[in-house]
Amino acid sequence: MPRKRCEILCVGTELLLGDILNTNARFLAQEVSQLGLDLYYQTVVGDNERRMEEAVRLALSRSDFLLITGGLGPTSDDITKDVVARVFDRPMVMHEPSLKALKAFYETVRRPMPKNNERQALAPEGATVLENPQGTAPGYIVEDASGHAAILMPGPPRELQAMFRTRVAPYLRQFSKGMIFSRMVRVIGLGESRMAEMLEDLIVEGVNPTLAPYAREGEAFVRVTARGDSQEEALSLTEPVVEEILKRLGRHVYGVDVESLEAALAILLNEAGLRLAIGEAGTAGLAASRFMALPAAKGLAAPSISAVSLEEIKNLLDPEGSALPDTPEAACARMAQTLCRVLDVPAGLALTVNEKRQYAYAVCLKGRASSLGGAAPSQRDMAYARTQAVQNAFDMLRHRLLDMEEARV
Ligand code: ATP
Repeated sequence: MPRKRCEILCVGTELLLGDILNTNARFLAQEVSQLGLDLYYQTVVGDNERRMEEAVRLALSRSDFLLITGGLGPTSDDITKDVVARVFDRPMVMHEPSLKALKAFYETVRRPMPKNNERQALAPEGATVLENPQGTAPGYIVEDASGHAAILMPGPPRELQAMFRTRVAPYLRQFSKGMIFSRMVRVIGLGESRMAEMLEDLIVEGVNPTLAPYAREGEAFVRVTARGDSQEEALSLTEPVVEEILKRLGRHVYGVDVESLEAALAILLNEAGLRLAIGEAGTAGLAASRFMALPAAKGLAAPSISAVSLEEIKNLLDPEGSALPDTPEAACARMAQTLCRVLDVPAGLALTVNEKRQYAYAVCLKGRASSLGGAAPSQRDMAYARTQAVQNAFDMLRHRLLDMEEARV
């Protein structure tokens, strides 16, 4: 039996025109591939009957399952259900349990139910109705005799995600052959192309698992995806390949299946039992906001300071001390040491970015400081320079912590 194909259709003029980001497509695409179903097309269409009908017919001509989000609300531009009913040639019938649930919802919120909301309880005849405890619009699975199905889900992401997980994923799982499991190997200090070069044979020859390299600002990653009869089997297939990548890329790998560089850093700081203070200038507080947003920050993050210049931070922490050195690298090194001394923490990070998008950063760990500098390429903007500075600074600290760990063993 060939593998089943899914396709995604997101409905809404505001999506089409870029007023909102299509996060539903991203969510569904990730979920569908995790289920081991093929996905070849995604479409966005506005709230227009003719074009939506065209999109639905085309999708069903080439895919087994069409996942549709949006356009299930009570207003006249919510036409998804009518269009699908027409394509499947089904009349609309009142679905009494949905009507009851709608009435109960309005009673709970103590508001009268607008008459046109009853439309939300109409279902294409023969459809499976998917209840929506998070909202008012139910979802539907409409199947035809040849095994094609349209699966309609509401647009609001919270409602869609809950419905997908509880009702749609179990439905689709019956048709998936095996499970997919992905590992994300996160890499820093190597560009995507250099990383791909070092893994070329694995990427080219990889069948199960497959390897896919990606780049993101300031880092790269490689996704290792295996298919197996069970999650465990798929996971065990990824293991030797992940090991091989770790061997080849060494310390450039900052983590496997970790959320971010700062999350990897937090693990190391936690293992070493060290608290970190950050002093940053010209970064709009980026380093501290990334670090402090981690759940692990409590206990690891000492007070941090963001200012427009390092001098201001120095004047605050060390008003009697001599002026900062002239070069940004040396100024950062002094600042990192000052942070440790004045705030009485073992780890300090200082960084600065100027208006020419040049940056410098320094780490002080147990009294010893090291620093470096760099510049964003001329065509890149300030946000890029800030990200670059923060990534480099975090990575320098990561290396220093790894050195410390190695020296200990
Ligand atoms: P409702 O009952 O709320 O009207 P609906 O099924 O009709 O739900 P839409 O009206 O199309 O859904 O969308 C409602 C809201 O859900 C949008 O304003 C938007 O905020 C969000 N939304 C819709 N589609 C998407 C999408 N693809 N990605 C992210 N958010 C979306």
